[in-house]
Amino acid sequence: MILIDGKKVAADVRAELKEETAEFEARYGRKVGLAVVLIGEDPASQVYVRNKIRACEEAGIRSFAHYLPADVSQKSAEELVLSLAADENVHGILVQLPLPKHLDAERILACIPTAKDVDGFSAENVGKLALHEEGTVACTPFGVMELLTRYGIDVRGKRAVVVGRSNIVGRPMALLLLNADATVTVCHSRTQDLRGECARADILIAAIGKPKFITADMVKDGAVVVDVGINRVDGKLVGDVDFEEVSKKASFITPVPGGVGPMTIAMLLKNAVACAKRIVK
Ligand code: NAP
Repeated sequence: MILIDGKKVAADVRAELKEETAEFEARYGRKVGLAVVLIGEDPASQVYVRNKIRACEEAGIRSFAHYLPADVSQKSAEELVLSLAADENVHGILVQLPLPKHLDAERILACIPTAKDVDGFSAENVGKLALHEEGTVACTPFGVMELLTRYGIDVRGKRAVVVGRSNIVGRPMALLLLNADATVTVCHSRTQDLRGECARADILIAAIGKPKFITADMVKDGAVVVDVGINRVDGKLVGDVDFEEVSKKASFITPVPGGVGPMTIAMLLKNAVACAKRIVK
């Protein structure tokens, strides 16, 4: 069994990006710029935003942090995003989700132009992914593909099963695997024979949000198992896969923490650099 080291791969990606951002600055006389908008005081979001800003600085990306109070009006939030959309020092815009309940998140996100949509959530970017065209891909599934590639795992022709169909993980994950020529099955809470579907997978991606949900009897011998889940149990982070038992059957497996998690921010930075390059081109 090979343990997929997401921390190491993420560090490699960030080191490569540092070179790319330096080249960008030398060529265009300004840094790649990423704006991060945080609305309200959600503690988890504050931690995510802090980590994203620190990662930007380390990779040579200029970050523009904007903190709005929880009771900000819809109009003010939209005006901020529109001003960032017009700012030529900003190449990517990220609005940290979830937003306070009184705000219409869809309308705020719609103020981000596709060219600056570093999260890859816009209908246009999702459409490009569905059409197998170049665009920005959601960071977490993009990070999973990067892990598979860097570990030399060829998905072509393989049976890939994705458990979960959310807009930010499961759906784009399935499209990426399909675009990479895997034979893809997407499972969800209405799937009738989940165990059977999973047990046929050469590559099994768990993105469910239920601790240790994927048990060893659901995994084929020699399968590649990628655990996207992040669940907090008794103060500890636990994935969607029963790592202890499943790792005895898998050929490759990602741990939690230290697997997919570190890749998400690395791919956000990669997306920011790609957006900047496309904008100045
Ligand atoms: P989500 O929006 O809650 O989606 C969960 C998906 O799992 C849904 O499609 C749901 O099916 C399916 N599901 C739930 N219970 C199921 C069951 N009993 N059997 C089969 N399918 C079931 O969650 P998400 O945002 O995709 O996130 C999934 C996990 O990944 C969470 O643990 C989250 O914390 C983690 N995550 C990690 C990262 C990272 O950086 N590593 C990033 C994002 C998310 P229905 O559609 O039928 O409801």
